[in-house]
Amino acid sequence: MNWIERMKSGILTRIKRDLPEGIWTNCKRCGETTYQAALERNSWICPHCSNHFPIGHGRYVDLLADNDSFTEINPQLATADPLKFRDHRRYGERIREARRSASMNEAIATGVCTIGGQPVALGVMDTRYILGSMGGATGEKISRLIDRAIEDRRTLLLVCQSGGARMQESTFSLMQMAKISARLRRLSNHGLLYVCLLTDPTYGGVTASFAMLGDLIIAEPGARIGFAGQSVIKQFMGIDELPEGFQIAENVQEHGFVDCVVARNELATTLSRLIALMAPAQDAMAACRGTTES
Ligand SMILES: [Zn+2]
Repeated sequence: MNWIERMKSGILTRIKRDLPEGIWTNCKRCGETTYQAALERNSWICPHCSNHFPIGHGRYVDLLADNDSFTEINPQLATADPLKFRDHRRYGERIREARRSASMNEAIATGVCTIGGQPVALGVMDTRYILGSMGGATGEKISRLIDRAIEDRRTLLLVCQSGGARMQESTFSLMQMAKISARLRRLSNHGLLYVCLLTDPTYGGVTASFAMLGDLIIAEPGARIGFAGQSVIKQFMGIDELPEGFQIAENVQEHGFVDCVVARNELATTLSRLIALMAPAQDAMAACRGTTES
């Protein structure tokens, strides 16, 4: 089989020379090289080792939402750099760089869509924007998304992908944990379903708040999920190695913090089924609680 036929069929070859950008992609876990179009057809999962490649918010929207159903809300909402913070670089510079690399104004894109024909308020974090860190505007976008879910009676789905709170915003960042948690309580009081999808990585203040508050918590295979990072824990504990599978989705599920681990190419179908299964219960729950406002 010549190289054109191999490329068309998605057969993969170890290529030693420099790879032409945008055509072939190397898997960091197994080292195999994959034709990018074949990888895209496989939901950005390595066909050799099932490694889930990191993907940005746009690809998650394409994978999860019904075709052309996503309408973004509050796309212009962004941080105002409230502390005029600088370390060895100005925070403002980091923001400008992040906007360019992630093609978004904040670390999360929010909007409304349908999944399997059911109305959903969808938020997708993106690590290309300052490691998906949670700033004040990130929290405000999530809060407004929750308000929209309540207004339209939609299921809320948050795709978490974050290094945690954004230290350049200090308390403005940390207070988002409480603000979002309070909003989620209001969503719950209205009997609406909240689903978290934890992707790699989900850490820090995000794990310590809304990533662990879902009625259903789903994780992608192999995703790192925790509060403090592994290197911090090793230093704190004074140890060189952590137990096998430590903070990995499958292990976190075994310990009861995650309900199920679902491969990315099965997510849309699984979410559609779960929402359909639980949506009738939403109305019953709301009736029981009298949709009390908190
Ligand atoms: Zn691989």
